[in-house]
Amino acid sequence: MSEILDLSHVRLADRPLIVCDVDDVVLDFAAPFQSFLHSEGHEFLPRSFRLTGNIISMRDKVAIEPLAVRKLIEAFFEAQEQWQSPTLKVAETLTALSADADVVFLTAMPPRYAEQRRRLLDKLHLPFPLIASEEPKGPIMRRLHAERSLPSVFIDDMAHNLHSVRDHMDDCLLLHMMPDSPLHKLAPRPEGNVLRASDWRHAESLIRAHIRRNSAPRAH
Ligand SMILES: [Mg+2]
Repeated sequence: MSEILDLSHVRLADRPLIVCDVDDVVLDFAAPFQSFLHSEGHEFLPRSFRLTGNIISMRDKVAIEPLAVRKLIEAFFEAQEQWQSPTLKVAETLTALSADADVVFLTAMPPRYAEQRRRLLDKLHLPFPLIASEEPKGPIMRRLHAERSLPSVFIDDMAHNLHSVRDHMDDCLLLHMMPDSPLHKLAPRPEGNVLRASDWRHAESLIRAHIRRNSAPRAH
């Protein structure tokens, strides 16, 4: 089943675009998800870069089935307002950047949990439009930015999302931001033209430099 993703709630002005992942970029995920697992009697063992096969029951130390893993992730998204907190300095940085650019959240979460996420982001002073979709991020960002010749920025903690956007966008600043988590230590590193931002302060300076460089009149 494939539906055309509705982007009509995202209104862009004639200015740079910053598209930003949510989990582990704007909201902590890895750490609170582990706390959530403990509360459910499970534990994540960082043996490889995947959740499936690495979540064990604390009772018998046996890895739980893929369907049960999926259900736990969904239960976490359902209850995200009780568990997830903002990453350091995210609200003040995005608020400052939003004076000069449009900020859009693109989260790879089942769309049925978008209401909970919207409420949580609003409560944390992050009122920017939210797109929840499990489809590849590159084509979605391309649809959003269309053929505009304005600077664009994409921020994510996952290499495959950065690669998807790299493959669909020209001249987009690709920023890799990730927490210091056991799962992320095992994650594949992004390849090619991707810059690593150590925190939101660093991200802001990289974004502002990119916007300055790419807003200048172009010589032919
Ligand atoms: Mg993420």
